[in-house]
Amino acid sequence: MIPVFDPYLGEEELNNVGDCVKRGVISGMMRGDYIGEFEKLASAGCETRHGVTTTSGTTALALAVASLGLGPSDEVLVPAITNIATAFAVVYSGAKPVFLDSENVTWNLDPDRIRERITPRTRAIIPVHIYGHPVDMDPVMTIAQEFGLYVIEDAAEAQGAEYRGRKVGGIGHVGCLSFYINKVITTGEGGMLVTNDEQIAERARFLKNLGYSSRDKFTHTDLAYNFRMTNLQAAVGVAQMHRIEEVIERKRRVAAMYTERLRNIPGLQLPVEQPWVKNVYWMYTIILRDDMPDRQHVRDYLADEGIETRNFFHPLHKQPVFLKMNIVSETDSLPVSENLGRRGFYLPSSPLLDEPTIDLICEKLRKALNSG
Ligand SMILES: *Cc1c(COP(=O)(O)O)cnc(C)c1O
Repeated sequence: MIPVFDPYLGEEELNNVGDCVKRGVISGMMRGDYIGEFEKLASAGCETRHGVTTTSGTTALALAVASLGLGPSDEVLVPAITNIATAFAVVYSGAKPVFLDSENVTWNLDPDRIRERITPRTRAIIPVHIYGHPVDMDPVMTIAQEFGLYVIEDAAEAQGAEYRGRKVGGIGHVGCLSFYINKVITTGEGGMLVTNDEQIAERARFLKNLGYSSRDKFTHTDLAYNFRMTNLQAAVGVAQMHRIEEVIERKRRVAAMYTERLRNIPGLQLPVEQPWVKNVYWMYTIILRDDMPDRQHVRDYLADEGIETRNFFHPLHKQPVFLKMNIVSETDSLPVSENLGRRGFYLPSSPLLDEPTIDLICEKLRKALNSG
């Protein structure tokens, strides 16, 4: 089986973990020396001054929402095409996610569709750099400033990507990263909040650590969380940060090889790289146009050939959980997101894929498309 993903790990990760174990420095708090180093490296990679490690991308987002003081009676704009975690992080706080449609070229939120969803309750927007392609941030920041909204960038799929020469995650007020196994870099599980705002960073450090205060440790003034990453995970993260440029180069090479082989198939819509961005091609995702065979047929064909694929995100305004919670209604319609959700899927996208394997995948895909 050619899996959709394999992580790129090596000696340095192994040595760092061994170092933690030998010294007994493994927790998320006591003398966790790799944690600070990892926060420094990854926040610098986003061109931000502060990094706060967490247990996952989901908890980094929840921590961002909590640190900005969002809660019941607030609305937060979230794209319909994203991992469910983006919206869950909002719902945990009691705030309501309001879903935005995508544009059809990069599949990111459509900046022209933001204003119509803003109400007097809107307090924040979470642009998600989907599949590694940066959101068009200039119009997002302009609208946010006009309406006094916080901008939380969900950069879980796009660590290292660039928008007009700036690293994603560092453009809004807060950025969130994920280090789940299939993300750009990994710590197994893990996440990070990055920001240039010292007050937000301080609030995040306080809230992620059960609200222990420095002066009187066991007196608590706020409802807080344990979102502490362990030193073991950070030890892997430090090693991963030393190879992130190589990982991104490999991912870009994989994408270029796919695009070269697939661009002449008229029924396929492929990932793009707008001239003003650097895409990190988190997963190589394709959309089957109208005249193509059914997606399930194509995916089944590839599975029979030993090629694993995975569906595009199911749009969040159609998720049963949000229907049940009355966050959305049956009649809500975001046509671009729904079309992508029905027709998109991604191909194996490991940074370790070699050219003969990509040749094979593309050849089988051609056959699958002609077999419908
Ligand atoms: C993976 C992902 C998350 C959640 O990160 P976890 O580390 O899995 O909790 C959030 N948002 C997006 C866009 C993601 O791809």
